[in-house]
Amino acid sequence: MEKNKPVICVFCGSSHGAKPQYAAAARTLGGLIAERGFSLVYGGGGVGLMGETARAVRTGGGTVTGIIPQFLRRIEQPPEWEKDLIVTPDLQLRKTRMLEMSDAFVLLPGGAGTMDEFFEVVTSASLGVLPKPVLLVNIEGYFAPLDTLMKHIVAEGFARPAIFSYYKVVDTPEAALDAVAESLSTLAHG
Ligand code: AMP
Repeated sequence: MEKNKPVICVFCGSSHGAKPQYAAAARTLGGLIAERGFSLVYGGGGVGLMGETARAVRTGGGTVTGIIPQFLRRIEQPPEWEKDLIVTPDLQLRKTRMLEMSDAFVLLPGGAGTMDEFFEVVTSASLGVLPKPVLLVNIEGYFAPLDTLMKHIVAEGFARPAIFSYYKVVDTPEAALDAVAESLSTLAHG
């Protein structure tokens, strides 16, 4: 991976989901990551939105690094062109490596694995151990129930309202990368 390129970690489904708009957004995001000179870190799989994103980055000439646990190689099928594939012993170490290597996190729609990754980055950011931007791309309103859950958690006194400052919901892949660029420039220049 080229060291000087900001690294965007994309968390998203290993499935395609019910609407074609989800895969379209993954392809748009991947294309923009390449076009804007970021590099991609992701879960390493060739399936679902993960595969759509990675192939679009690759097609756009961008750098892709996949991180996959050994036991998922058969199930999530890393693309054969993926040279920078990091294989970890388990899911926990995969997530640790993804968090360490990345400058920002962009989430597309996904399942329980994607939600696990969302809560991991938001709790780590709010505890001060991961001062990195987190963006949810709200394709077809997919993240509205999650937003409702977060508000409920705060309303019922299980998190402070400050939790909302550790992630941002945006409508498009373009807006997500604009927000990443702005946050990284603020972090770099204080
Ligand atoms: P999903 O959103 O459920 O399709 O999963 C997206 C990615 O998260 C896939 O690569 C899964 O292998 C991964 N994943 C699933 N469960 C977990 C977990 N408990 N911890 C970390 N990653 C997970």
